[in-house]
Amino acid sequence: MSILKADEWAAKVIKQEEIDKYLVNGRDFIDEEVIYNKLYSNRKPDKQFIRDIIQKSLSITRLEPDETAALLNVKDEDLWEELYEAADKVKRKVYDNRIVFFAPLYCSNLCVNNCLYCGFRKENSEEKRRILNMEEIKKETEAVINEGHKRMIVVYGEHPLSDANYIAESIKAIYSVKKKAKHGYGNIRRVNVNAAPMSIADLRKLWEVGIGTYQVFQETYNHELYKKLHPSGPKSNYLWRLYSLHRAMDAGIDDVAIGALFGLYDWRFEVMGLLYHTIDLERQFNIGPHTISFPRLTPAAGSKLSTNSEYLVKDEEFKKLVTVLRLSVPYTGLIITAREKPEIRREVIKVGCTQTDASTKIDIGGYSENTNLQQKDKQQFMLGDTRSLDEVIRELAEMGLITSFCTAGYRCGRTGDKIMGLLKECIEGKFCKLNAVLTFREYLDDYASEETKIAGEKVLLKEIEEIKTIPFFQQHNLVEKFNQYYERVSNGERDLYL
Ligand code: SAM
Ligand code: SF4
Repeated sequence: MSILKADEWAAKVIKQEEIDKYLVNGRDFIDEEVIYNKLYSNRKPDKQFIRDIIQKSLSITRLEPDETAALLNVKDEDLWEELYEAADKVKRKVYDNRIVFFAPLYCSNLCVNNCLYCGFRKENSEEKRRILNMEEIKKETEAVINEGHKRMIVVYGEHPLSDANYIAESIKAIYSVKKKAKHGYGNIRRVNVNAAPMSIADLRKLWEVGIGTYQVFQETYNHELYKKLHPSGPKSNYLWRLYSLHRAMDAGIDDVAIGALFGLYDWRFEVMGLLYHTIDLERQFNIGPHTISFPRLTPAAGSKLSTNSEYLVKDEEFKKLVTVLRLSVPYTGLIITAREKPEIRREVIKVGCTQTDASTKIDIGGYSENTNLQQKDKQQFMLGDTRSLDEVIRELAEMGLITSFCTAGYRCGRTGDKIMGLLKECIEGKFCKLNAVLTFREYLDDYASEETKIAGEKVLLKEIEEIKTIPFFQQHNLVEKFNQYYERVSNGERDLYL
């Protein structure tokens, strides 16, 4: 597609009135000067101020920009140890010891944009282009289900051929697949979407077919740099992207997910950007982001920037930025992906991550065509962790963490402001504890290897013992119902949830 065609597509999709309606006095919520000032005026935070901030996070209250800026400026490594510990506590308070798993499914690498960091960018002539048809999407889904997954995030380049209609069809195709497993059956129960910003009318099409979360990363919140990194196509419009999740809320999709691509610019600035994004969603809709992602720039074919950016984030800095995000937005889910190597994933999960992926394939058609090697010319970037779901689940079980495939929240109407309230009061986490056990039982019976079963059963037993002692479950007569469901699932029934 020529540049002209890309611009024609941009003119077709971008609706200026769907940007303007969210601006305040003609301005968006990211003001570089304000952010730099906050970081500067909090450059030498007092130890007591930091400890007060920790207490505020532990009360599951979102932090203010001055407080996040102060955390970002901590230099004392002993104080960082306190922050890591607090981040873990906050996570356990809201989400307990659970990790939710998902599988990304790349449906198309056709793209009209030219993001300088991405292997899918239009001008990367080395990339082999492919868009899956619905039969191929179903085959990919079967392969993902056979690993034991229940959640997917579907990913698309931006292109007229992968427009909202195609995305909606692919969601329907995924939900339609059901595969027999060892004892019960497997299916995908929640489809999240990572795709280009859309109009409210197009987003409604996704809502109608049962989208889970809609995810759009701003990449960088710095206006100037954003312009340089996105030289052409609709993605060059910063504001169209910045307000994509506001439009999603207006379309009825109230689980939205934000993120920044770390490594493009100063990580402290981007954390502040994510916080301001959160604050604006809360202000305009009374609902913050369902999750925050912090992908790190990873080597991509045909992108020099992906390896030589001056802002690449070191492992120590990465752990710090995740910690600050955990403390700044205590109620939100945090996603760490297989872009990261196993060692760093282990380290960062401990400071508050709630979701991750495994057995990931990001080359188009990679799951069903069983490509074991990473294929530079068919994927967006290179993965850091190619271990199977079974291996990662076992490792987490050995760390005392329970894998959850729970997708009950959104099917029981616990989304948007309802789930936010429940998370802030640490109630949603309690329902998830029950559903985590039920879905982990399914996994262990249907898909786990013998070694994983041994490690998993130990965690499961401990959870079941805890469930019996939690007053909340007794007060709400949930223990008996849970016991019945557990028995039914153990006997091969599937997809029971509370
Ligand atoms: N095309 C859509 C878009 O750009 O929003 C959605 C799909 S895009 C493949 C998903 C995300 O991948 C981007 O938002 C970006 O943050 C991330 N990404 C792109 N290039 C990357 C790289 N080299 N390393 C790590 N993540 C990258
Ligand atoms: Fe296309 Fe998204 Fe890659 Fe940019 S990041 S080139 S929009 S797929």
